[in-house]
Amino acid sequence: MHVLKIGSHVNYTSQKGILGCVEEALANGGNTFMFYTGAPQNTKRSAISTAQVEQAKEIMKEEGMLLSDIIVHAPYIINLANRKEEEKWLFAVSFLEEEIKRVHTLGLTYLVLHPGSHVGEGTSVGIQNIIDGLNLVFERTKHLPVVILLETMAGKGTEIGKTIEELKEIITGVEAQDRIGVCLDTCHLHDSGYDLEDFDAFLKQFTTLLPLSLIHCVHINDSKNPRGSAKDRHENFGFGTIGFSTLINIVYHPALEQIPKILETPYINHTYAPYQKEIAMIREKQFHPDLFDEEKAME
Ligand code: FE
Ligand code: FE
Ligand code: ZN
Repeated sequence: MHVLKIGSHVNYTSQKGILGCVEEALANGGNTFMFYTGAPQNTKRSAISTAQVEQAKEIMKEEGMLLSDIIVHAPYIINLANRKEEEKWLFAVSFLEEEIKRVHTLGLTYLVLHPGSHVGEGTSVGIQNIIDGLNLVFERTKHLPVVILLETMAGKGTEIGKTIEELKEIITGVEAQDRIGVCLDTCHLHDSGYDLEDFDAFLKQFTTLLPLSLIHCVHINDSKNPRGSAKDRHENFGFGTIGFSTLINIVYHPALEQIPKILETPYINHTYAPYQKEIAMIREKQFHPDLFDEEKAME
């Protein structure tokens, strides 16, 4: 039986922890979710309550949510690609190490990571810095079965990971092959130039470089900008330049059936989470162009 694995980014607070994430995901009609273990733009992190984790696990079991479908996103300020200042680079490695430990304490497996930006050092130096950082962090967490998923990036600024070739180069350099995977982001793929309309052709291209079994998460976002714009601005599902039918085709593609699909779409008027409505629309497979009219009118 095909059970669609759909969810969104949810909020993780120091008070409610993962329990709050589970509640928010369920309220949205999701059966999976993704979260940051603290603010995405900083590295302040609070202690994890094991009682809360146990409670969350119980609810998830009751609701048929699988721990292996839940995704953690590393803060986007971690930049393994830039090693101009050794101390900063080592801090990023240490933070990632702590993050892996947190993911494990939460009983989870997958941690999404932006490969990083080379900030002038050049792509090949940047890629080597990422490889070295990952090998160091996997060495330090040898006993933990947490898998880092490298996200496909839009190519904004000096971002690395804007092509599958770049991800392949990083993955090839990683010693712990069982600890590394890929997270596809549809907005990023589109913005970096990939044509998602013929998704079979994209998958074919992907598999000439990397096995599909490396993909463990898909960020299912529309884009505000034309293909190849290298911008990275997410749009609500079906409301952007990728479009509803192309995105629905990806969500329901048989090759990705077992993989969690996560919405990272923008809030309506910066106020209302769009996820409940988007998930309902995705389940229904029917685009509603007036989906957010009420919320927009209230502003
Ligand atoms: Fe991301
Ligand atoms: Fe993403
Ligand atoms: Zn993005």
